[in-house]
Amino acid sequence: MLIQTVLNDCHGFSFFKYAGVIFDREKKKIIIEMSSKQSSKARCSRCETKCPTYDHQSERRFKFVPLFGYQVTIIYIPRRVRCTEHGVVIEWMPWALGKRPICRSFALFLASWSKTLSWTDVARKFHVSWDIVFISVKYVVDYGLLNRCLDKIESIGIDEILFRRGHHFVTLVFEITEGSKRLLWIGEGRKSKTLLRFFRILGKAQYCSIKIVCSDMWAAYLKVVKKKLPNALHILDRFHVMKLLNKAIDQTRRIEFRALQEEGKENILTSTRWLFLKSPGNLTDKQSVKLSDLVDQNLKTYTVYLMRELFQKLWTITAARHAETFIKGWCIIANRSKIDPLKRVAKTLTKHLPYLLNWFKTERKISNGTVEGFNNKVKLIMRRAFGFSSFSHLEIALYHNLGNLTEPKMTHSFV
Ligand SMILES: [Zn+2]
Repeated sequence: MLIQTVLNDCHGFSFFKYAGVIFDREKKKIIIEMSSKQSSKARCSRCETKCPTYDHQSERRFKFVPLFGYQVTIIYIPRRVRCTEHGVVIEWMPWALGKRPICRSFALFLASWSKTLSWTDVARKFHVSWDIVFISVKYVVDYGLLNRCLDKIESIGIDEILFRRGHHFVTLVFEITEGSKRLLWIGEGRKSKTLLRFFRILGKAQYCSIKIVCSDMWAAYLKVVKKKLPNALHILDRFHVMKLLNKAIDQTRRIEFRALQEEGKENILTSTRWLFLKSPGNLTDKQSVKLSDLVDQNLKTYTVYLMRELFQKLWTITAARHAETFIKGWCIIANRSKIDPLKRVAKTLTKHLPYLLNWFKTERKISNGTVEGFNNKVKLIMRRAFGFSSFSHLEIALYHNLGNLTEPKMTHSFV
């Protein structure tokens, strides 16, 4: 009796009642019988209009939120109704999630846990299949996407991430306005036509409000942004520029590593990859000692490392003209270094100088670390799931965690 009272309070419906409870102590299960209220007429599941009953179907079971560690199932014998508009259809059951064997409230409950745990862990913890967890998250995401507002977006960040081995990339578009940061769109691939799909979905009336675009130097993105948002300020952010420099360090280290091996010298560059990718302030004591050992070795890798650290100074400059002098000076030193990976960075930076300088015209309206922050979160979500086998799974997981989407309303929160 107490369970029925609790259920009526947190999961009650005007035209239905909780008729009985079967308690299976051994299997740790609670079965709750739902029935329609005697006076209430069934409603069409498509238009929710009251209709005469046509017939009864066989019993259906709906998994509900566990209570006190017991699995809970609601059973109900649905009616079919004869709707003047839709013909003979199943009645409207406000707790049901289409034809799925779960209650909407349970779907919300599972989706909520899926923000903290992997889908596999959620399935295991609540004794449901992986598919049920996916369907639950998809239900929440679909609702959120349908009900989100895409008006007045001022700044976006575009990023690409390796989704699967073999150059399978996805393109991500984030809103990066201070106070409104979220994933706006994800598309398979990183070609021009991929990004064009984002603009097509958004529509001109909405994307014309975009004033600032932040991306890396991928030519396809630069081309599409120029075409669709010719008046927007397109900037290259710190994250992607520094990524370029880290790549140069890694390339130089590999070349030098091989050369030292061929000369048969003691390989002082062994296990130094992560050391060179970190800033001096983030090194462990052991790494600091190792780095100081390398200082006297006249290594090209160390030169590139120092050049990267020097480049960090750029982000403390406030005026565009000072930044331009700094970058040009840095490129002169890089070109004189005779280190090919470093010279390639100088070439890329020179080619994209206007985009780099645009950063200094944003008046710090957007944070330099926003796209990097999203990039890290995406990687974390992918790691938590041990990778995603299909793009649609990745898409749903990312919208769910980063889309800042509105969730379907329930009278009671079970989490
Ligand atoms: Zn109808």
